[in-house]
Amino acid sequence: MIVRRRWTAAATTAILFSAVLSHPAPGTAAPADPAPPITLGATETALVRVQLRDQAQLDRLVAAGADLANRPRARDGRILADLVLSGTQLAELTAQGAKAVQVVQRAGDGSRHHAESVRAAQARTAAGLRAPAAGQRTTAAAAVDTLQVQQAYWWTTSGQTFLQAQVATTATDDPDVEITVSWRTADGATGSFPLYRFEDSGEYQYHYNLPQPVPNRPVQLTASSSLGGVSRVVTPTFWPNTTPPPLPAGYQKDFIDAYLTPTDIQARIKRLARQYRDLVDVIDLPNKTQGYRRNAVAYLGDPAVAAVVVESVRFGDQGMNGVQVRTVDPGRRNRPLTVRYRDRVLTVSLATDTAGKTVSTTDEVAAAINARQPNRFRATVEDGSTGLPMPVAGPARLDDGLQGTEVPARPWTVQALRLGVHRDGSRVGVLAYSQEHAREWATPLVTLEFAERMLANARTDPATRELLEQVDIFVIPTVNPDGANYSFNDFNMQRKNLVNHCTGAARDPKYRTSWGVDINRNYTVGSYFDGYVGASANCLSGTYAGTAELSEAESSNVIALAQAHSNIKFAMNVHSYGGYFMWPPGAYRADGRVTLPRPSIDESTLFLNSARRIVGAIAQERGTVTWPSQTGPVADVLYSAAGNSADQLYYELGIFAWDFEVGNDRWNPATNQWEGVGFQPPFDEAHGESQEYAGGLVEMVRVARDYAAAQPAA
Ligand SMILES: [Zn+2]
Repeated sequence: MIVRRRWTAAATTAILFSAVLSHPAPGTAAPADPAPPITLGATETALVRVQLRDQAQLDRLVAAGADLANRPRARDGRILADLVLSGTQLAELTAQGAKAVQVVQRAGDGSRHHAESVRAAQARTAAGLRAPAAGQRTTAAAAVDTLQVQQAYWWTTSGQTFLQAQVATTATDDPDVEITVSWRTADGATGSFPLYRFEDSGEYQYHYNLPQPVPNRPVQLTASSSLGGVSRVVTPTFWPNTTPPPLPAGYQKDFIDAYLTPTDIQARIKRLARQYRDLVDVIDLPNKTQGYRRNAVAYLGDPAVAAVVVESVRFGDQGMNGVQVRTVDPGRRNRPLTVRYRDRVLTVSLATDTAGKTVSTTDEVAAAINARQPNRFRATVEDGSTGLPMPVAGPARLDDGLQGTEVPARPWTVQALRLGVHRDGSRVGVLAYSQEHAREWATPLVTLEFAERMLANARTDPATRELLEQVDIFVIPTVNPDGANYSFNDFNMQRKNLVNHCTGAARDPKYRTSWGVDINRNYTVGSYFDGYVGASANCLSGTYAGTAELSEAESSNVIALAQAHSNIKFAMNVHSYGGYFMWPPGAYRADGRVTLPRPSIDESTLFLNSARRIVGAIAQERGTVTWPSQTGPVADVLYSAAGNSADQLYYELGIFAWDFEVGNDRWNPATNQWEGVGFQPPFDEAHGESQEYAGGLVEMVRVARDYAAAQPAA
């Protein structure tokens, strides 16, 4: 018998993976690995760093709408991807040649997650990177390739120096070309490491590797290939090589003591407006969200045998939680199927035959409820129960299943803070917005720390005061409060909003943690609806684009704010995790990997120079350096994200629109590996992220001020 689960997280993404799992891998020998394998319980959901078998496996995952938390990276010639998946899905991927290398974070209800955020360090291989075997140099008449070192950067963080290189070969079509980088440090030490081929959407991009530890400042780097190509010798560049102005004595910071729910954020906004009356406006954004609400639902019957899903048309909190539903045997012969609703009980009396036996099917019961009570109830046959005899069942109580008892069940007004001395549109504007994705709990901490730093220091620090004189600052701490409430109270891995656009069998409550729209795929430029890659039409996908561009209140609010304030010239969309700094284009078409238009040379220079300043400011706090390989256009350094907000802000409204992914990987010297921090790290880490990225946002304000000062007077 098939074991079915009600109301659990684990069953939810099964549909997304069916396309992937229908491709069994051909038998390939995985390299011997002495470490014990990482496994999850079948019903457990977790964020797992997985080493995929090959590019094809990744492509199938992406095509199936997999919940990719991070950009897949090459390591050991294989691809590392961070995926939200169940134990069953992990087992099936493993059977196809994939291997879990880190459990970044386990799912649970949000309130319990601290106890559960376990890092599975024991299962990581301590071995470093596998160098290409000696003697692989091709001796046949293959043409020698030409190598170009596109990037070679070094930096130091927490006392450890790192080197990162990106090299392109002219032998773009040869998947077997191996490229090795050799380095020499200032004190004469030498070493080498391999690079790995990186393809995107089937197109060769370059060879690269994660940042590699080196003993000292590297002064020389060359690349050589298995085809015989040798690059010219280059001197690695210090990254990011910028230093923000030093903080004056008495500069106030650290306004974050805990993770903040949407209710906490609302209170914080109110307090800031009261405390800094002369510097703050609170803007109520025009589109109220659905609220932390769901339709009330129950299985009528046993889903393991035969059942109909009955849900209320109104939300559970609108008087429908607790309503009962049942089927009864009329106890008489030749009775028709009838439906009656009285005293908060929906009673379906089953039809009987001449012998008095009940004869109604599941489909007939669902159809009768829909026909007789269309304003109160919606019924669908449970997946797998079609055409089965309907049992006498119930009474079952409809329930919205929401666990958060302290969350107001009403439409939510999303708020923005406006900070500045002149809040009249006469100054250049910047917009910082966070938590489009509900589970990214650290992100509102960043924007609120930033806002409070600007306000608290305005009276004591002349430099901060001058920024508030020259710049008009807009902050939306939580774009997606409904999803955030769900993430805190019900399912911590929730990414999307709470609006359920699914129809038919996909409304089965076993999919409840997969409903919702991905806000950052719901915008108008380079969207799924325009044929761009990186969003889905499947309402259960982690990247579901919605029913149309801007179908959601949350995305419409961001655009409404930007449209209403045409002085906004810079924007930062704050996400987590992974440590990225990105800008447009953020999407490309699948066919030929044609991106949205590239910025002009001048604008690209502005993007990169500003990025270096902001990355330098982030590093000031605790030495966290955003990798050069993760600084650049979204479509190049992360993945294609069709219909994301930064693209609409940039291409439609002419705003220099960036994205942060806060929460950089941490280097573990014991294992020689970079480790992901996840969406909801232990609070100390989230606190660190808030401090360093708030500093980055302050630098964005300086960038805006300098930009405005350089413009010719109007
Ligand atoms: Zn995100």
